[in-house]
Amino acid sequence: MSNVHELKFLKEKIQELKDQGVYRKLPVLESASGAEVLLNGKRVINLSSNNYLGFANHPRLKSAAIKAIEEYGVGSGAVRTIIGNMKLHEDLETVLAKFKREEAAFVYQSGFNCNAGTIQAITEAGDIIISDELNHASIIDGTRLSKAARGIYKHSDMDSLEAILKESREKYRNILIITDGVFSMDGDIAKLPEIVQLAEKYEAMTYVDDAHGSGVLGESGRGTVDHFGLHGRIDFTIGTLSKAIGVVGGYVAGSNTMYEWLNHRARPVLFSTSLPPAAVGAITEAINMLMESTEYTDRLWENAKYFKSKMGTLGFDIGNSETPITPVIIGDEAKTMEFSKRLLEKGVFVSGIVFPTVPKGTGRLRCMVTAGHSKEQLDEAVEAFKKVGEEMGIL
Ligand SMILES: *Cc1c(COP(=O)(O)O)cnc(C)c1O
Repeated sequence: MSNVHELKFLKEKIQELKDQGVYRKLPVLESASGAEVLLNGKRVINLSSNNYLGFANHPRLKSAAIKAIEEYGVGSGAVRTIIGNMKLHEDLETVLAKFKREEAAFVYQSGFNCNAGTIQAITEAGDIIISDELNHASIIDGTRLSKAARGIYKHSDMDSLEAILKESREKYRNILIITDGVFSMDGDIAKLPEIVQLAEKYEAMTYVDDAHGSGVLGESGRGTVDHFGLHGRIDFTIGTLSKAIGVVGGYVAGSNTMYEWLNHRARPVLFSTSLPPAAVGAITEAINMLMESTEYTDRLWENAKYFKSKMGTLGFDIGNSETPITPVIIGDEAKTMEFSKRLLEKGVFVSGIVFPTVPKGTGRLRCMVTAGHSKEQLDEAVEAFKKVGEEMGIL
């Protein structure tokens, strides 16, 4: 038999990972995602999930999911453009558009394929996409699927953006500026008011991926666009249903024209089965909960402020985050991973994030505070950070 099946080339690459010390096993979660989880058999405080509002295991979302299953089953049976477009999906889009204060919202199966599908559908050869250098991987992949040209500006640097706009205006037909609303590794917010001004000056369209802003910023989590009062001036606002909303899925909110076009040309919707009823039922309930009350986002911000002020007082470098994302910057890659390991031994899970996810020498423990944490859990986490910081000579 041929030895092609040995996948020797992959074995060599895996060995390289081992030689570089970056080979790893995935941690195994043995409970629902929450403020405390069972991880590899041990109960630990979880400071690493994107479950900002504690919705991933919320009783109201679970009941809504069960109700949707009872009425609609477990699968939608087809892509939306054939016969997988259930009334549930339509109702969700109506609720989402209302929540986001936009004319329409178009739902995808994930935030990732929302970017993969939308960017290529709204751009073509002769256009240019101008992207912040720290934009999410799914934006980079989405941009690669487009036939448009690309420009990259320095992170949140408006001079750098304007230089590319100036150079591009005569050369290209449409210009699309893309930015994350909240940058996930540092927690800083995009300079949307300035970006919108520049976009209008150069007649460019704007596209904001608000994965970490929706459910977090703005009135009751309406997002970064709402936070800055820029409704009607951002053409495409992306959100995920997997982070603060606690389930799975993605969407783009904007005009009816956007909706009509994506309905015909968004490839993940044309060629991949629609979200299952359970997910859609749970998401709709979550959005309704946010429209009913600011209770969840209020608690999220209260916890975030509490944790940040305690960590800052201890003397850690917590960067310049403007959101609940709290990076504790250690610097050295090996030290960062060692810090994470020692925290886990003390019952606190915070994954270490190092190069290539963040620049070399800026290794960090990215703490994600949620509405579901109690003050006692946050105190315990701070205490563990203090002990490990002292043990390792960082404090
Ligand atoms: C997490 C994330 C995504 C992907 O969303 P999923 O729903 O997990 O697929 C897209 N964009 C940004 C900026 C993100 O942070």
